[in-house]
Amino acid sequence: MKIKYLLPILFTAVLLFSCSNNKSEKTKEEVSTTFKYEVEQFADIKILRYQIPSFDELSLKQKELVYYLSQAGMSGRDIMHDQNYRYNLKIRRALENIYQNYEGDKTSEDWNKFETYLKRIWFSNGIHHHYSNSKFIPKFSKEYFDTLLKETNTELTGEAYDVIFNNADTKKVNLDADKGLIKGSAINFYSPNVTAEDVDVFYASKIDKEDETPIEYGLNSKLVKKDDGTLEEKVWKVGGMYGESIEKIVSWLEKAVTVAENEKQAEALKLLIEYYKTGDLETWDKYNIAWATSTDGDIDYINGFIEVYNDPKAFRGSYETVVQIKDFEMSKKMAVVSENAQWFEDNSTLMDNHKKKNVVGVTYKTVNVASESGDSSPSTPIGVNLPNNNWIRQNHGSKSVSLGNIIEAYNQAGGTAKLKEFAFNEAEIAAEIEYGQLADKLHTSLHEVIGHASGQINPGVGQPKETLKNYASTLEEARADLVGLYFLPSEKLVEMKISPNAEGIGKAAYDGYIRNGLMVQLVRLNLGDDIEEAHMRNRQLVAAWAFEKGKENNVIEKVVKDNKTYFVIRDYAKLRVLFGELLREIQRIKSEGDFEAGKTLVETYGVKVDQAIHKEVLARNSKFKSAPYSGFVNPVLVPETDAEGNITDVKVTQPTNFAEQMLDYAKRYTTLPDVN
Ligand code: ZN
Repeated sequence: MKIKYLLPILFTAVLLFSCSNNKSEKTKEEVSTTFKYEVEQFADIKILRYQIPSFDELSLKQKELVYYLSQAGMSGRDIMHDQNYRYNLKIRRALENIYQNYEGDKTSEDWNKFETYLKRIWFSNGIHHHYSNSKFIPKFSKEYFDTLLKETNTELTGEAYDVIFNNADTKKVNLDADKGLIKGSAINFYSPNVTAEDVDVFYASKIDKEDETPIEYGLNSKLVKKDDGTLEEKVWKVGGMYGESIEKIVSWLEKAVTVAENEKQAEALKLLIEYYKTGDLETWDKYNIAWATSTDGDIDYINGFIEVYNDPKAFRGSYETVVQIKDFEMSKKMAVVSENAQWFEDNSTLMDNHKKKNVVGVTYKTVNVASESGDSSPSTPIGVNLPNNNWIRQNHGSKSVSLGNIIEAYNQAGGTAKLKEFAFNEAEIAAEIEYGQLADKLHTSLHEVIGHASGQINPGVGQPKETLKNYASTLEEARADLVGLYFLPSEKLVEMKISPNAEGIGKAAYDGYIRNGLMVQLVRLNLGDDIEEAHMRNRQLVAAWAFEKGKENNVIEKVVKDNKTYFVIRDYAKLRVLFGELLREIQRIKSEGDFEAGKTLVETYGVKVDQAIHKEVLARNSKFKSAPYSGFVNPVLVPETDAEGNITDVKVTQPTNFAEQMLDYAKRYTTLPDVN
């Protein structure tokens, strides 16, 4: 599971106003004034940089490990493009060729539009928007594009050419079953002739519902229908589909093994290598157990086909890597949350038989990112909780990390103007400035550590993706968010010395959540669009449900002041009770596999947008130039070597602009054919 950034405006660069005389905070401010977080802005995208604060404290061996893991990660970059759409690599490479070789006018409006189109493709790892899933419509003409192709001797023909301008494959992931979950999705996880029914039949015969330790079926393959009508999994492994990239990944992982920090870490890396060589999902499980229980090192990583959000049938994993260095100070503080996991479980609003009697191995870490690729880049999560396989989580525990330097960069790049536009009054603004950032950190940790780890499924009921199907992700995120919301105003956090003030934190968190869920997050959608993305659906579901259920008692009041709408919380205590009720119900849905109830909740509260409010939000937001989505370039890790080629140091530099890094990656990490 990954947690995404709520919205830059909620948690702004308020350290300046709120921090005390704390020395480390001061150092941070000093650092941030000399570091340029913002790189550039285009379309609806803002590109930022991040720093790696703990890098220089690492030993040479650890730096080498970070470098090898980073190279392994980058080596799979092109896989993500191909997974997203079968012609993405072909199109991207053609456009890159034009970009580097065109000798005509590069100051014209047309060229500008072409450049923006290419940057959007780089940012989204393909021709579909990373968040809305809709295909980009180029703003330049077909005729102009033909000229560029001709003058640079670039070849792009057939479907790959046509799709740029026509009405085919307009959605990357379609969750509207009426349009056909697979037929309506452009994602390259199924050959175009496979239907959702084919997938159901294929896996129904494979999945043993009685198996208490099932593998993640279909996670690392493309499902294709052959001419004779039979279905076959084309497995992503050495010698299989994406074999050229995976061989490179493996060769860098083998170097990483030689500098592993400890035996357990080396063991996990070896299992990952074996998995990539064989494609065996039993080995993937063994690897995940080894990885989840390997917690001693300062360096950690995520590498593999992991999140299934991009598959409308929720089987196939997108390629992803994150390389992380432990944030020693924050981790110590937050370890206390996971030490109290059982207290949270015992004191939650879940029905008794849905509570875990022993919450196992919940670890919480704040890390600093050193490198990201695939599904995590340039658009990045801010927290991750893995592995995803439920029985491994229950029996062996899971790792939960918050990406500290990424969150820091988001916060430093923000401003308070938008907060002032959407917050109801001075008190709400002041509370956000004083407690907003910390409330957000606490919510992230509670969401990841306690939320995703909490609750149990009734015996005999299948995994959520089988029972709750296309609603599973939204409901799971809602469940985790609600655990956090329920406990944020708790005195227990003050006792645990991680919250300064139960009431202050609670109010700031609730104000921010309602403001975002009912209004602010809508800036990301075009007027008339439904909400598609799981995290966005979950936030509106939670906020809209609470608004509706609290109407009788005026818990949240819709106020119109100077022609502007605000959702103002009038009773925080009652709102907390409502959050607790919804948590209990969503856990019941998960525990019992109640598809109909889950569907009703999501469809009623999470999908449709109030058109009048949406229109108003867009109008109020239009005066802010800041793009609604942000993502990151990676710092560049440059090894220094001696005469024999041994690494003697690794230096960190920053790219000057987005195109430079994308072209560099395209050159250095290109292994796959145009069409796979
Ligand atoms: Zn989550």
